Amino acid sequence: MITVPFLAGKTVAVMGLGKSGTATVRALLAGGARVLAWDDGEAARRAAAAEGIALVDLHAHAAEGIDLLVWSPGIPHTFPTVHPVAAKARAAGLPPVCDVDLLARARPEARFLAVTGTNGKSTTTTLLAHVLAAAGHQVAAGGNLGTAALAMPDLEADGRYVLELSSYQLELVPHLRLAAGVMLNITPDHLGRHGGMDGYVAAKRTLFDRLAPGAAAVIGIDDAPSAAMAEDLEAKGLRVVRISAERALAAGVSAPEGVLLEDGVAVCDLRPIARLPGRHNWQNACAAYAMARADGVPAEAIAAALATYPGLAHRQELVATVDGVAYVNDSKATNADAAEKALVCYERIRWIIGGQAKEGGIAPLEPYFPRIARAYLIGEAAPLFAATLAGKADFVPCGTLETAVARAAADARPGEVVLLSPACASWDQFKSFEHRGEVFRQLVLGLAQRGAAP
Ligand code: ADP
Repeated sequence: MITVPFLAGKTVAVMGLGKSGTATVRALLAGGARVLAWDDGEAARRAAAAEGIALVDLHAHAAEGIDLLVWSPGIPHTFPTVHPVAAKARAAGLPPVCDVDLLARARPEARFLAVTGTNGKSTTTTLLAHVLAAAGHQVAAGGNLGTAALAMPDLEADGRYVLELSSYQLELVPHLRLAAGVMLNITPDHLGRHGGMDGYVAAKRTLFDRLAPGAAAVIGIDDAPSAAMAEDLEAKGLRVVRISAERALAAGVSAPEGVLLEDGVAVCDLRPIARLPGRHNWQNACAAYAMARADGVPAEAIAAALATYPGLAHRQELVATVDGVAYVNDSKATNADAAEKALVCYERIRWIIGGQAKEGGIAPLEPYFPRIARAYLIGEAAPLFAATLAGKADFVPCGTLETAVARAAADARPGEVVLLSPACASWDQFKSFEHRGEVFRQLVLGLAQRGAAP
């Protein structure tokens, strides 16, 4: 845990008592601050109280007398409506900050590298942390992913904190100074929270306001808003490093055919790396490569480390190969866009789909239906998806994941892939996408064990 001694004796309000909020309360108390903790949700308040956290209703408390307001990034404070506690604090000259800002102030001598973008943040963050650790640095990864900022380990003086930052967090980190930052891509997402696409792009762009002087601004230029941002920031004098997974770049890092190029010169082949399948992962690899280069890691060392990346659970994770059939857990694919990234990677697919459908369902995935040997439908979306697939791909309603895995395993032939890439939220049958992926893993490991039995 990080302690924050610079707030000893101060009064700090903490709004939001989820994972990052409770870690913040603990770090502040350990550093000797007086903490006023609150959450608008009753369940979170009850959980915090059960952990011994004293609650103070910040709606009723005057902003005067508070030295700092720490805001949980998950709580909207400006759009779609202004939150009264944030408004009151702002009026009293107290702009809210988030836990990442406290981390930056607590460890001013550490090197911070940050990753943002609409898709690929967690993969790139963990890949970059893996590369830096392989190069001999002490590294911790966290922020929006996994470990909350103040629950991260206290690293030695020149340790590297690799932070995954959401657009919500970026608005709340005025003291963060980055040694390098990467913006992977921008596609429409969370627009309600940012007051539309312009607001979302502007929030992502603030990453580069946080760069230390001369630090690299790494930008994925495969979408129009990001490409325009690169042009603009370069014109303003920033050191921009462009990355692309779609076209070869004479200056920058690119991998249009799966071979990673630095300034147009081949460095390594990404295609044999099983944990980084697909063009989207080539973009993530280019990003991690450019960031590690900006941090002084030699090209060959990065190339070697990319090949040993262990991968992240629930993102095209190969759980096991049983009787020549690969079982892939892509439970994180909660919409059609994400599922498409997996469908492009395999030729003959036993596709497990369903759950709570997102707008548009799986209709945009029709170009990939010829690859579907059969679809196994689960959860609420089954009738909707059956209607989309009818006459275009073979399918069978299965109800549960358990039935789907059993039927797919019975049907599958060597060389095929059983892919859980459900293009749906999980909440109709599971607690989370992680829970869904874990159930899939257990079912597959059960198959593998039975296969191994005499
Ligand atoms: P995030 O943390 O931004 O949600 P993840 O690394 O967890 O991203 O990946 C989530 C899903 O998004 C993956 O399963 C894949 O389908 C898709 N994805 C990953 N990287 C990219 C990328 N660079 N561009 C587009 N989609 C991606």
